[in-house]
Amino acid sequence: MKNPIHVFKFGGASVRNADAIRNVASIIRLYRETPLLVVVSAMGKTTNALERVVSAYQAGKDFTGEIQAIQDYHAGIMKDLFAEGHPIWNEINKEFAELPSRMTKGLVLDQLYDQVVSRGELISTRIVAAHLQQEGLPAIWVDARKYILTDNTYREGKVDWEATYKKTQELTPILEKSFIVTQGFIGVTPDGFTTTLGREGSDYSAAIFGSCLGAASVTIWKDVPGVMNADPKRIPGAKPFHELPFREAAEMTYYGASVIHPKTIKPLANRGIPLLVKNFDDPSLEGTRIHETKVGRLPPLIVFKDNQCLISCGVTDYTFIDEQQLSQILHAVSKQNLKINVMQNSAISFSFCVDFREDKVLSLIEELAENFQVYYNTGLTLITVKNYDEDTYQQYSRQAGVVLEQTSRSTLQVLVKV
Ligand code: ASP
Ligand code: MG
Repeated sequence: MKNPIHVFKFGGASVRNADAIRNVASIIRLYRETPLLVVVSAMGKTTNALERVVSAYQAGKDFTGEIQAIQDYHAGIMKDLFAEGHPIWNEINKEFAELPSRMTKGLVLDQLYDQVVSRGELISTRIVAAHLQQEGLPAIWVDARKYILTDNTYREGKVDWEATYKKTQELTPILEKSFIVTQGFIGVTPDGFTTTLGREGSDYSAAIFGSCLGAASVTIWKDVPGVMNADPKRIPGAKPFHELPFREAAEMTYYGASVIHPKTIKPLANRGIPLLVKNFDDPSLEGTRIHETKVGRLPPLIVFKDNQCLISCGVTDYTFIDEQQLSQILHAVSKQNLKINVMQNSAISFSFCVDFREDKVLSLIEELAENFQVYYNTGLTLITVKNYDEDTYQQYSRQAGVVLEQTSRSTLQVLVKV
C-alpha cells in the first residue's frame, strides 16, 4: 500500500438526516486521495428504537408500530437522497420486511437482541455507501461481520483479536481502490450469529479496525470541536484540548466522559496509533489529538456522571467493618457486574457509588441486606474534577447537597443530590 490507511468513525448524530449524510460525503471528499475505512453507526436514535422493538417482543406486546416508525424514518431520509427507482429502496425494504422474523423463539434474549439491534448499522451503512457512490465517490459496502470475530457473549461480544487481525488484512488491497464503508458496533460469533459490542460501541469498532490495519490514525467525527474540558451543554465556557496523552483520555472515560467509548483507547495506545476527535460541522478545525505524549499541566477537567446510587453498608452490632466483610461486599458487587465509581470506608460502614441500573442494584441491596444494615440514595450526580485548581476546588467542594466527597492530589470527586 502506497499511502497509509486512515479510519474514520461517524456516529448516529452525523448520519441523523439527509443533510448530515451529505455532509459525511463532503468530508470524505476532502480525503479523496487517502485510503479510508469508514465506520458508521445507526442513524440518529435508531438503536434505542430497535431496543424498544425487542422489549415489546419480550413483553408479548405488538411491535409492528415501532418497526413501522423506524422504517418511515429511514424512508424519509432516503426520499431526500435517492430517486424512486434506485436499487437501495429494495435492499432497505427487504431489511424491514425480514425484521420480525429475526425474533425467533429458541434464541436466548441477549442473542435475539443482537440479531435485531444490529440491523440499525447494517441499514445505515447501506444508505451511506449508496449515497457516496451516487456522488461519484468510489465506496464499497463491507459487512463488518466478516472481519470482527467475537465470542458468543451477546450484547458485549469479546473480540478474538488473532482471528480478527488475520481477517482484516484482506481489506488492505481493497483500500487501494475504494473507500470502505462498514458498520460499527457489530461482530460475529464462530457459529455465525451477530454480536454487538456494547452500547456506543462504534468507536471501539473503529479502534479495532485501526489497530488491526496498522492505521496512521483513527478519527472520530463529532458535534463538538474536540475533547472538551467539560460537557459544553453543562458548562458554557468549556474548551477543547489540542492534545491529550492516551492515559489522560482513558482516565476521562473511566470517570464518565462520554466523548469516547472507554474501550477505544487501549487497542490504539498499544500500537501507538493517534486518535483524533474532530468536528463534523467544521472539518477545518484542528480538533483534539490523543496520542503518546507528555503534556505539562493540563487545565481542570470536569466530568458529570448522572443517575448514581450511593449504597452504605453498616455493621449491625458493635464490631468494625473488616477485610472479610469488605471482600464479601465487593464480591456481591462484582457478581452483579456493577462497577464502583467511588468508595469510602469508616469504622462501622462502607459506602460506595454505582450507576443506578435498577434491577442489578436492587438485587445487590437485597443480597447485602442479609448481612448488613443497608441504606441507599438514588438520583445522585458524581462530579469528578481531574487536575483541579484553586477555583474549581472552591466551586465544587463543600457545595450544598454533597453526600460524599473525596480529594486526592490530582482529583476531586463529589457526589451530590441535585
Ligand atoms: N448504534 C450503537 C448505539 O447507539 C452504537 C454506536 O452508536 O456507537 O449504541
Ligand atoms: Mg451513537
